[in-house]
Amino acid sequence: MSPFGIKLLRPRPRPPEIDLHMHSTQSDGSVDPAGLVREALALGLKAISITDHDTTSAIVEARRSAEGTGLEIVPGVELSTAEGKSDVHLLIYGFSDSEGLEQALLRFREARERRAEEMVGKLNALGIEITMAEVRALAGPGAIGRPHLAQALVLMGAAETSQEVFRRWLGHGGSAWVPKERLTMEDAAEIARRHGGVTSLAHPATLRRDDLIPTLRDRGVQCLEVWHSRHDVECSKYYLALARRHGLVPTGGSDYHGAHNPGVTMGCTRVAAEVLEELRAAFPSTPPSISPSIP
Ligand code: AMP
Ligand code: MN
Ligand code: MN
Ligand code: MN
Repeated sequence: MSPFGIKLLRPRPRPPEIDLHMHSTQSDGSVDPAGLVREALALGLKAISITDHDTTSAIVEARRSAEGTGLEIVPGVELSTAEGKSDVHLLIYGFSDSEGLEQALLRFREARERRAEEMVGKLNALGIEITMAEVRALAGPGAIGRPHLAQALVLMGAAETSQEVFRRWLGHGGSAWVPKERLTMEDAAEIARRHGGVTSLAHPATLRRDDLIPTLRDRGVQCLEVWHSRHDVECSKYYLALARRHGLVPTGGSDYHGAHNPGVTMGCTRVAAEVLEELRAAFPSTPPSISPSIP
């Protein structure tokens, strides 16, 4: 209200149209794939991509739930790669061979199990009595990860919040932290290419490795995540300009994890429908030939 009692006209924020980055119960999100579809429909989104860590298993259930609604489910997955001391996350979109890709990601899911066991062992050695069975139960059918260990520790009262757990024990270099098996960006991008997908560098502002951006295309990464819940408007403008300068297709999404990441909701980062059209044009038009000689 103005001092004269006249309602001031503020430009209404434009609603989000698509969201290409979120997690389900198949990895470390708290909402199952059908629930994500319901939320997307309630928001009036045209398309979503469920980008679980190391698994594409949400896609089938999401597609079934979205049938007949007009909501598009864009194939997506998030992989973790290593570049020096940085943990570089890559999003893969549009793959035509979901089953083959899911098979190729099996070794990463198995490595997650072994890593979780090792972290539980380290916590036990620190006197924190947590069991793998408790963590497994929290992960449910999905790819296990540090957030599930963090949840278990909060539930047993060892810490107040997941953030505290990461700060005290599970963060990079922490006393119960175990490094991930190293996967290079090139290898991840090659896995994507072999299964008909394109690759995007995720949340560059949290990565803080803009030095990597000029070389991305040469290393098989065609896209850059410009819009993200951790990017403010200025930051997104900056990354959009960088994307254009280096011939990268801009992508975007909220990185919604449901209740596990309070404050980040589906669609909280506005992404326009045209973004998907530009991304779709970057999808390989014919499935690439799968060479058995590539490991
Ligand atoms: P992992 O894939 O097992 O290495 O776990 C990484 C995941 O933990 C990320 O995808 C986030 O969902 C979550 N995460 C990372 N850092 C933090 C933090 N400081 N506090 C809470 N959750 C975090
Ligand atoms: Mn996560
Ligand atoms: Mn990430
Ligand atoms: Mn993510």
